[in-house]
Amino acid sequence: MKIAIVGTGYVGLVSGTCFAEMGVDVTCVDVDRQKIEKLQQGIIPIYEPGLETLVLKNHREGRLHFTTDLTACLNDVEIVFSAVGTPPDEDGSADLSYVLQVARTIGQNLNKYVVVVTKSTVPVGTARKVKAAIREELDKRGAEVEFDIASNPEFLKEGDAVQDFMSPDRVVVGVETDRARKIMERLYKPFMMNNYRMIFTDVPSAEMIKYAANSMLATRISFMNDIANLCEIVGADVNMVRKGIGTDSRIGSKFLYAGCGYGGSCFPKDVKALIRTAQQNGYQMRVLQAVEEVNERQKSVLFDKLARHFQGKLAGKTVALWGLAFKPETDDMREAPATVLIRMLLDAGCRVRAYDPIAMPEAERRLGSEVTYCKDMYEAALDADALMLVTEWKQFRLPSWGVVKRAMRTPVLLDGRNIYDREELTANGFTYYHIG
Ligand code: NAD
Repeated sequence: MKIAIVGTGYVGLVSGTCFAEMGVDVTCVDVDRQKIEKLQQGIIPIYEPGLETLVLKNHREGRLHFTTDLTACLNDVEIVFSAVGTPPDEDGSADLSYVLQVARTIGQNLNKYVVVVTKSTVPVGTARKVKAAIREELDKRGAEVEFDIASNPEFLKEGDAVQDFMSPDRVVVGVETDRARKIMERLYKPFMMNNYRMIFTDVPSAEMIKYAANSMLATRISFMNDIANLCEIVGADVNMVRKGIGTDSRIGSKFLYAGCGYGGSCFPKDVKALIRTAQQNGYQMRVLQAVEEVNERQKSVLFDKLARHFQGKLAGKTVALWGLAFKPETDDMREAPATVLIRMLLDAGCRVRAYDPIAMPEAERRLGSEVTYCKDMYEAALDADALMLVTEWKQFRLPSWGVVKRAMRTPVLLDGRNIYDREELTANGFTYYHIG
């Protein structure tokens, strides 16, 4: 089977590589010439565990190709995926210009049947807009070419993307015809050998499933952050509360961790886009509005604790940050809570020393040289008045507290992800704050 994937970012590159690993002939397309040239030379533009080995192997074995020219492979494939970005517009709605651009290119060049699958996260109704754009371009040429559209939202998590793609909980595909359904079933069969979980729906439902899933996960996080803040006020411990409710099989234990806010390229923009879709249709998503509000407030929780500890006198203090990426095992800094926190610290006159195992080049590109980027976690703690754990990379879990304490000017630790043990830290002479 031959397919093309347009948009070679986190989703396009991972999906393309995993399909190739299953024997599919995949052409990954992107408008970013530099990115494609690097991939052709075996340089992987993003950090994702396990991805590099698979890209290199499948490229070497001739199943994974990279190009900037969709038209060169379009009439040679059975499926074209669109996995381009859908960033938030100024009003929070999803910007569909890249998605529709791809549709137009397809319409301008298509000569044979293909299934056009939207993998990007897009509002309900987008696949139909894609269909209309392709049809319009075909009509302009007077071309009578059959095609189908489908919606196949992606649920992979950055940091675990290859594993998620290879062993998905489920694959959701929205289709309009039996022909498209059969083609999609054939493509995904290798991933379903042990676990047949392909859910076929109509197209609008598939589009909504993605937003509903991300919004539900964001809701759980904001809910727990709200509970954590109340725990602090009334003298309960959110970690105990989490265990107490997570063991209820109706609730489950995932996404119940209080912290310093969710970030990343998906939750913030998808929650916003769903709120916006509702508004455009005369409906208010009240729960999601609160989810967003709680999350915005949560990003300043560590800063507020620090300010309270130093009675508001933060100017001239040195603050060390462990972790910058929005979550472990990724270099993605999009909407990372660390960026908001760093801005607040700098505005309050603090010096910021940071260490992240992978995301520092990307952080430096976004935040510039106002931050001191350190070569390891202990160097970041040097002469610090306080240390903040922002991203829970594994290597931060069991530090040599003696070394950290000797490096710091004052041993104040703010644990933004609740990974440390209060008793251990207190025994080691630290003043310890966590969330909730
Ligand atoms: P990304 O920014 O990493 O990649 C998008 C790529 O599309 C870029 O390389 C860009 O150059 C390319 N592109 C833009 N316009 C193009 C065009 N006309 N032709 C060819 N290439 C073009 O984005 P991403 O994180 O991979 O996300 C892609 C989509 O998948 C978004 O809708 C996102 O919401 C969704 N999604 C992302 C994740 C995730 O974890 N990142 C998970 C599930 C779904």
